[in-house]
Amino acid sequence: MTFENTLAFAQQLDREDTLADYREQFLHPIINDQQVLYFTGNSLGLQPKAARDYLDIELNDWAKWGVEGHFYGTNPWVSYHELLTPASAQLVGANDSEVVCMNSLTTNLHLLFVSFYRPTKQKYKIISEAKMFPSDRYLLETQVRHHGFDPDDAIIEIAPREGQHLIDEQDILDAIAEHQDELALVFFGGVNYFTGQLFDMKKLTQAAHDVGALAGFDLAHAVGNVPLHLHDWQVDFAAWCTYKYLNGSAGNVGGIFVHDKHGQDTSIPRFGGWWGHNKERRFLMENTFEPMSGAEGWQLSNVPIMGMAVLKSSLDIFAQAGIENLRAKSLKLTAFLEFVFNDVVAKFEHIKLQIITPIEPMQRGCQLSVKLIGTDKSFFQALTNAGVIADFREPDVVRLAPVPLYNSFEDVYQFGCRLNTLLREYQHER
Ligand SMILES: *Cc1c(COP(=O)(O)O)cnc(C)c1O
Repeated sequence: MTFENTLAFAQQLDREDTLADYREQFLHPIINDQQVLYFTGNSLGLQPKAARDYLDIELNDWAKWGVEGHFYGTNPWVSYHELLTPASAQLVGANDSEVVCMNSLTTNLHLLFVSFYRPTKQKYKIISEAKMFPSDRYLLETQVRHHGFDPDDAIIEIAPREGQHLIDEQDILDAIAEHQDELALVFFGGVNYFTGQLFDMKKLTQAAHDVGALAGFDLAHAVGNVPLHLHDWQVDFAAWCTYKYLNGSAGNVGGIFVHDKHGQDTSIPRFGGWWGHNKERRFLMENTFEPMSGAEGWQLSNVPIMGMAVLKSSLDIFAQAGIENLRAKSLKLTAFLEFVFNDVVAKFEHIKLQIITPIEPMQRGCQLSVKLIGTDKSFFQALTNAGVIADFREPDVVRLAPVPLYNSFEDVYQFGCRLNTLLREYQHER
């Protein structure tokens, strides 16, 4: 479709947008008396207006019932996490039995590694992306050491080729083939947090399986952003956080996926806790751990109800809007941002802002990462002062994430206006 960088055009796109009303279901920050343009749903999603009501139900039940709320509350707490499963499963393309919300992302990845990274002397290597999100990198490093291997030897990092920003998928496939005799696991971010590159998880999983390795993914930047089909792709395991695109609130509980081919096998080694124990017998306080089948068998503790209530308020919105519909809007919204951005920066010579996210829409989610050339972090600060909430990642990248649930085409147009003003100021300063 051909775009125009005008207010009338943006407003026309908003009128045609069948998801436009969802914007009203979220609280949009006003900072320094200014209605900000919020493009940071990839870091912390906005608050659903309904979150307070969902939370109130549980606070009221706690007040009314005390401990009896576990069984007699409006949404009995013993099984509260089950209420989040259908919407979560839909978002990642899984059976309900393959998904559960629990703990937090890095914790969950460690727990999943206990089960799915069981290296032998022969097969112990992990293939992953270079410059992973630090927490994931620490996960790999400490897991490898825990099993007595040397990270420099055991972790194979695939980097972009010289002078490139993106990883060539062929290089991953070649590395899988090259290390096939020693390979235990392929572990990637589904969408890279820095560049916004979306990987072909189906293809990587197939390639891992072809050489007898497993495939796991960190979906922090993928869930709620792009449609996923983890079950059909035969992905072995995955985990995600819920405070980014899923609007679950800061630091809230994460989610895991364990494919039924593993989940139904209760003999798979794992770390146990009472919430993963056979739920019919959980309160009999018996000695021997008998894991539940499915992802629930990886749970340890009883669940944080207040956080889960807030998360539920957002998951219910996703279930209603539908991830496929959101993706259709997202493709258009990000393409419009790309167009407006390029239209504005083309007018300025000295400051080069370069989009490093893939141009190909199927290789990215909603985020565009912009590399600052000929300017520095002060430019990002000026953008913030101009009321654009984006984020900065060292050394030189600004990430912009227009989110289809609550960002509009007019937001994108207004962003272009503010960027233009800012670039003009910077131009004059030179
Ligand atoms: C946001 C993010 C995390 C954060 O981990 P927590 O355990 O939730 O603090 C980890 N990995 C990736 C790839 C992320 O994007």
